[in-house]
Amino acid sequence: MERLQKVIAQAGIASRRKSEELIKEGRVKVNGKVVTELGLKVSSSDRVEVNGIQIEKEEPVYFLLYKPRGVISSVNDEKGRKVVTDFFQHFKERIFPVGRLDYDTSGLLVLTNDGEFANLLMHPKSEIDKVYVAKVKGIPSKENLRKLEKGIRLEDGKTAPARVKLLSADNKKQSAIVEITIHEGRNRQVRRMFEAIGHDVLKLKRERYAFLTLNGLKTGDARELTPHEVKQLR
Ligand code: URA
Repeated sequence: MERLQKVIAQAGIASRRKSEELIKEGRVKVNGKVVTELGLKVSSSDRVEVNGIQIEKEEPVYFLLYKPRGVISSVNDEKGRKVVTDFFQHFKERIFPVGRLDYDTSGLLVLTNDGEFANLLMHPKSEIDKVYVAKVKGIPSKENLRKLEKGIRLEDGKTAPARVKLLSADNKKQSAIVEITIHEGRNRQVRRMFEAIGHDVLKLKRERYAFLTLNGLKTGDARELTPHEVKQLR
């Protein structure tokens, strides 16, 4: 049994708070009857409708994918390119990615059918650490890396403080490998941060998301999160 507002949020229809509003506004029916009381518990055999449309309940599932480069972080692509959910075709659940990685970025991506869980992870207040390893053109100076650490002005505002580590520098090839940890999730953020200090990103990989790593996985591999991991992420 789950609370009604949680079931609605889990179906990805609205956030928990918005789901409560929908209930209070009389837009939710359980087994054909309008329910305006918050906290009613419903089971999988109860029929829940929001604005007259029955919501489909699925068991929540949680996965981690080692996304290869050249894959879209979406559930479909109008140009017919490969999408991250193509790796889960043998599952009946309709899962979607929690946030996104660029087409050319590889690495760790969480997918789920639990809308409330996804909203929670993506909420700025969650401040989940994301660790990226970037191969950049040229060798960034200490001062420039310090700028990334302190926060750098981008067109959509200054970035929050980050952790930055120069892992290696190749003088001959004029490139460097830099590890950067951020907790924001703006569009193309890491690429734009490096561009702002004059270094194009040649390759980008997300190695860690919160405490989750890619250990034991090869590119294109996926695994289910354990119930303990899901609990820790909440
Ligand atoms: N930052 C980027 O620039 N790209 C990603 O895919 C993720 C973070």
